[in-house]
Amino acid sequence: MPFQEILGQPKAIKLLTRALTTGRLAHAYLFTGPDGVGKAATARAMAAWLFCGAERDLAPCGRCPGCIKFASGNHPDFFHIVPDGMAIKIDQVRSMKKQLSFAPLEARQRVVLLEDVHTMRREAGNSLLKILEEPPPDNLLILVGSDREPILPTIMSRCQVVPFAPLTVDLAAEILVRCDPDLDRSQARVLATLADGCPGLARSLETGGVLDVYRELVEGLFTAPEDPGPRVECALKLAGRAAAGKEGLDLLLDLLEILFQKAMKAHLLGTPAGKLDDQVARAREQWNLTQLSDKVQAMGSARRALARNCNQGLVCEALMLDLLECSPRVLGG
Ligand SMILES: [Zn+2]
Repeated sequence: MPFQEILGQPKAIKLLTRALTTGRLAHAYLFTGPDGVGKAATARAMAAWLFCGAERDLAPCGRCPGCIKFASGNHPDFFHIVPDGMAIKIDQVRSMKKQLSFAPLEARQRVVLLEDVHTMRREAGNSLLKILEEPPPDNLLILVGSDREPILPTIMSRCQVVPFAPLTVDLAAEILVRCDPDLDRSQARVLATLADGCPGLARSLETGGVLDVYRELVEGLFTAPEDPGPRVECALKLAGRAAAGKEGLDLLLDLLEILFQKAMKAHLLGTPAGKLDDQVARAREQWNLTQLSDKVQAMGSARRALARNCNQGLVCEALMLDLLECSPRVLGG
């Protein structure tokens, strides 16, 4: 991701752009701030900028050997250090220091990205201090740390600290949609809100599987068999899927409710299908206003039952039977 595409960090980007364009880089930077707001992406963008060998204004050319090697993850002058287990260990720091004593192989400058430096204990931190004070020439160290945990003050005092801010929900949602074009904008907003404006965190919610389950459920609701028996079976199967991801259930309910509400709105406003997300258009086609309003009410009942600590599995079963309109008559009652 080039520098200019990093969203929501104008101060940090301005400062770093100035340093890059004037050739006045500090020897070590420390990017701090919440998780998942673009710190490591910014560090990579700096590396990309420094490794490009073409004549250009700002963005790397993407075509020269330096750009191609970095993009493929094979640049010999890019060191990326992440915690070995729970923390960055002293051995990792030592081996890095050893390599830094040699000149860069291809680029004018080697770039070392150390992620999660807040995990570093004093021993590893102390080993890093000397190199932070006087790095061998032609090395740029970029340390990235979360503000969840304190970073050793001795490290902070030897780096130029660049604070990164949390993003607005809108911006975080925009970044999510950019990363996953299939993601519906309002779903992205829900994720972004839940993750306090940190797209990185929201993506972990996403990769936690909630969105996959959501998509499965919606598909199941759209394509459930008409025959009563198999329809009930289908409802119970979907309920099992929904209840399995315990942590994500609230989020799942939010996402479903958004879909139903949007389909209701589309009915009421008569929005042309071309202007609707695929799922919303499909939901409007499949269910009339009364059916959709019943579904929204069913979501409300499920939420209230969960708030009363009712059994999640049973709540999901009742909900899915409601959503598929499996009436008691169908159940043999
Ligand atoms: Zn290039």
